[in-house]
Amino acid sequence: MRTVDIIVKKRDGGDLAAEEIEFFIQGYTRGDIPDYQAAAWCMAVLLRGMTHREASDLTLAMARSGDTLDLHHIAPFVVDKHSTGGVGDKTTLVVAPLVASQGLPVGKMSGRGLGFSGGTLDKLESIRGFTVTLDREQFMRQLAEHEIVVAGQSADLAPADGKLYALRDVTGTVESMPLIAGSIMSKKIAAGADAIVLDVKVGKGAFMKTDSEAEELAEVMVAIGRGVGRKVAAVISDMNQPLGYAVGNALEVREAIDTLHGGGPADFREHCLTVAGMMLLLADKASSLDEARGILARSLDDGTAWLKFVEWIVAQEGDRAVLEAPGLLPSASLAEELPSPEAGTIAEIDAYQVGRTAVLLGGGREKKGNPIDHAVGIVHHKKVGDRIEKGEPLLTIYANDEGRLERAHSQLLSAIRLSYEPVAPPPHTHKIIL
Ligand code: URA
Repeated sequence: MRTVDIIVKKRDGGDLAAEEIEFFIQGYTRGDIPDYQAAAWCMAVLLRGMTHREASDLTLAMARSGDTLDLHHIAPFVVDKHSTGGVGDKTTLVVAPLVASQGLPVGKMSGRGLGFSGGTLDKLESIRGFTVTLDREQFMRQLAEHEIVVAGQSADLAPADGKLYALRDVTGTVESMPLIAGSIMSKKIAAGADAIVLDVKVGKGAFMKTDSEAEELAEVMVAIGRGVGRKVAAVISDMNQPLGYAVGNALEVREAIDTLHGGGPADFREHCLTVAGMMLLLADKASSLDEARGILARSLDDGTAWLKFVEWIVAQEGDRAVLEAPGLLPSASLAEELPSPEAGTIAEIDAYQVGRTAVLLGGGREKKGNPIDHAVGIVHHKKVGDRIEKGEPLLTIYANDEGRLERAHSQLLSAIRLSYEPVAPPPHTHKIIL
């Protein structure tokens, strides 16, 4: 088999056989296939698509590129969740300890920022000392001792995704249904959870722009997971405006900390309760989503989830002092408020533009492996549907560079649209697939 023939076949719209996909994924993982060929292949997949059978073969080949954990000697039932990527999406930071605080073990492999969307690992690394690099033994030990672990791809777990993810981020090949399904489900299969809740985002700040695309992605991933014997559900949720108010790594950690103290933005708390509630439901820890949400709301309000968060972060070497005094998180040297040019109601906050601006400020990567600036980002003061007066601040930009701050300012002006008419806040959850 020749790599170039596999690229050409996909470029010309052919369906790849399971053996061709396996050859490609194993060759790229070993380093026999170079980045330039893998980039061409990813672009061919993005442009030509894949059948559901090919997407499933791709996922299984990626999962087989490393070990698959069997966690049953540690815990009888482990749950996991994964987001398809959005802006201001700090859900794991709250949901993982929230669910673990109910005695339900959470074992999760997360990703870094991808394109305009942020990544859980980058957010967590804004906490001094926190390590995301855990090998198989460390992953299992931490799950056994603390019932919660969140790590990055490693040399032993889904290494194909580790390589492809970084490559897609900088080659314009993120927004592909089969590549997203393969990336997410290979990690989920390798990390060994019995039940998985997929948080599928839809809208301007998501990779899937329409409900029908998001539903197709959700259904493909649910089918792949169930095909390998896992319990899987999906929540399709709105990503037209950013989730919560904060966008940017350390800023989002602060917002997650507020939420774990029973506060935080209403839409974000609501979303966390739904995703975590679905995890409890899949694990038969509640008989309805309402019951699960009630249990979890109490855990946020009485400090149980917060205590689990602190235990988790410290177990992965994060500095406890930063959690107790979030002012110690990285902070930007420049802050500028953007005043509203008019009075009105917020009709749109384009999450894609906001995500692009966070990358422009240095909060995401322009090139593979680039370092990122954890301090920078945007904090909104209003959500869609809120009333604003002329001159009242719409948002605050946090930056470490004057030039970038200026560019961010003009980019964000075009991200926000006002209306003179009242605007209803958009529904957050579009659909649940159980
Ligand atoms: N999250 C992932 O892990 N992979 C993707 O491709 C998109 C979101």
